[in-house]
Amino acid sequence: MRTSGLPVLDKLINDFSKLPGIGYKTAQRLALFILKSDPDYVSELADALLSVKENTRLCAQCFNISEHELCSVCADRRRDGGLLCVVEDVVDVMAIEDSHEFRGLYHVLGGVISPLSGTMPDDLHLKELAERVQANGVREVLLAINPSTEGEATMIYISRMLKDSNVRITRIASGVPLGSHLEFLDTATIGRAIQTRRDL
Ligand SMILES: [Zn+2]
Repeated sequence: MRTSGLPVLDKLINDFSKLPGIGYKTAQRLALFILKSDPDYVSELADALLSVKENTRLCAQCFNISEHELCSVCADRRRDGGLLCVVEDVVDVMAIEDSHEFRGLYHVLGGVISPLSGTMPDDLHLKELAERVQANGVREVLLAINPSTEGEATMIYISRMLKDSNVRITRIASGVPLGSHLEFLDTATIGRAIQTRRDL
């Protein structure tokens, strides 16, 4: 293991290098930046890190990240509660919201069905999706799940699960290439994919 000779700095470098996309060199650069920074900034940063953990939770209705019982989307009465967009992860909600093309509500599954990596239907918020569709006068369920093999299997599972409830089931269409992730698409592509959704 590489070391800077200062255990306290090594600890910070090691912690930074656990962040996604951060290798040793970048972690070292970040740690040295912190070392040289104004103490007020470092204190603010430390507070922000703790605060995001302490003051957020999952929305009780859609499992989006939230500061309150309901997230800002679910709490917005102007949104169309008859249209539910099903996504894998919170990052997908953010990507779709950035496109300003969707005026319905979300349902965050928390992943996709993947027996190989041990994610079974019961590990996801699928039961809650079925309950929402039953209870809330939903007209359409739009599946905005990334089109991987596991994503396709998850979409099939959902369409079977909901087949007896009178809802239209659609999926986002053109512009989302196989194997691509929503979070990496530009907002215009996401917007187009929502507009040109098709029935499943
Ligand atoms: Zn919500």
